[in-house]
Amino acid sequence: MNYSDFFSEELEKLKNQGLYRKFRQINRNKNSFPEAIEICDSSRRKIEIWCTNDYLNMSRHPQVLEAAVKVIHEYGTGSGGTRNISGTTSYHVDLENELASFHQKESALLFSSAYTANQSSLWVLCKKIKDITVYSDELNHASLIQGIKTSGAKCKIFRHNDLEHLEELLRQEPLYSPKLIVFESLYSMEGIYSPMKGIINLAKKYGSLTYLDEVHSVGLYGPEGRGIAAEQGVSDQIDIINATLSKAFGQFGGYIAASRDLIDFVRCFSPGFIFTTSLVPAIAAASLESIQIVKTANESRTKLKNNSDLLREYLTGINIPYINNSSHIIPIMIDGPEICKEVSRILLEEYGIYIQPIFYPTVPQGKERLRVTITPLHTKKVIEPFAVALDQVWSRLELRRTSQESKVTASYVV
Ligand code: PLP
Repeated sequence: MNYSDFFSEELEKLKNQGLYRKFRQINRNKNSFPEAIEICDSSRRKIEIWCTNDYLNMSRHPQVLEAAVKVIHEYGTGSGGTRNISGTTSYHVDLENELASFHQKESALLFSSAYTANQSSLWVLCKKIKDITVYSDELNHASLIQGIKTSGAKCKIFRHNDLEHLEELLRQEPLYSPKLIVFESLYSMEGIYSPMKGIINLAKKYGSLTYLDEVHSVGLYGPEGRGIAAEQGVSDQIDIINATLSKAFGQFGGYIAASRDLIDFVRCFSPGFIFTTSLVPAIAAASLESIQIVKTANESRTKLKNNSDLLREYLTGINIPYINNSSHIIPIMIDGPEICKEVSRILLEEYGIYIQPIFYPTVPQGKERLRVTITPLHTKKVIEPFAVALDQVWSRLELRRTSQESKVTASYVV
């Protein structure tokens, strides 16, 4: 086989489909966010970021930085090994205890990322629970899908947020057979909530475990930012909660929280936990500090909400199609990957606005978008010019507008 030809032909095919991804080099100075520096060849220029997942700007918080630096000075950078090989420090243990209590669970387990947490935990649960049937929302994140798929377990995909379809599929298996429903609390590409209570009721009715990805909601929703399950008062009715340290907490790593035995089971059987170096202790310390701050950060959460609502108001005013939700994620819909990339390019090159285009396989084909994420630092001062820039680009490229009545709503993606 000519391996080189194979790789270049596959890449060529991807480019022809308009699905090839190019990364921009963007350095975010902690003091000037949302302003950042784009590095292109030897030139540098100021741009503005409109698509960060550092939702509460915690990656720059002075107390968090201090916590990380203190541990680095004392203990260095790398953890030195897997959790088994001296990679379990007091920082890991303290963080896991905090995460367990944050989600009102008995235990929590850290992973290198939420991706690994999802992939590895689901893999081991689906592999080890004999004859389990998994029910997975059709818009679930790739990490959830990978865990289920690679386990080889029987999987039934239910239509996005469709309780009737989920029940129809649950009914097809004997009541006594093991089941697992896998879903997210806030779908990251839509900014739409799942019908959590309805899913829990079905899980109880059909004897199913529940696995909930709260990656885009922890820190932002619920009392003290404990997530949407906590907001709805149902944390205790979800069996496994997954989330990340890398978005609202602004650090790195992921985790699951669940009962003591379930966590111990995953700890003992999951290769993605066992055979990899543990988190950098300084990051564990920074994460713990960040969580403490985020718990009291009601003012930041209010700013985030107000800023998001303000941008939605502007978009409505200029008839730009977006998925209407009440979250901090504002997906602006553009039909087709090439035109989506072109809008993104113009915004960056002519207006200094960085917002990456989202296309397949991140979202289904035909559902391309700019996924705008708001932070407390995206105030009216930057929101207004951002809306003006969008308006001008829409006119110039004659992109589809929407009237008030036909504004894209949640049903667009359901
Ligand atoms: N789950 C969802 C829904 C996500 O959107 C992501 C990443 O964006 C992940 C899990 C993975 O999170 P992490 O970046 O911590 O690996």
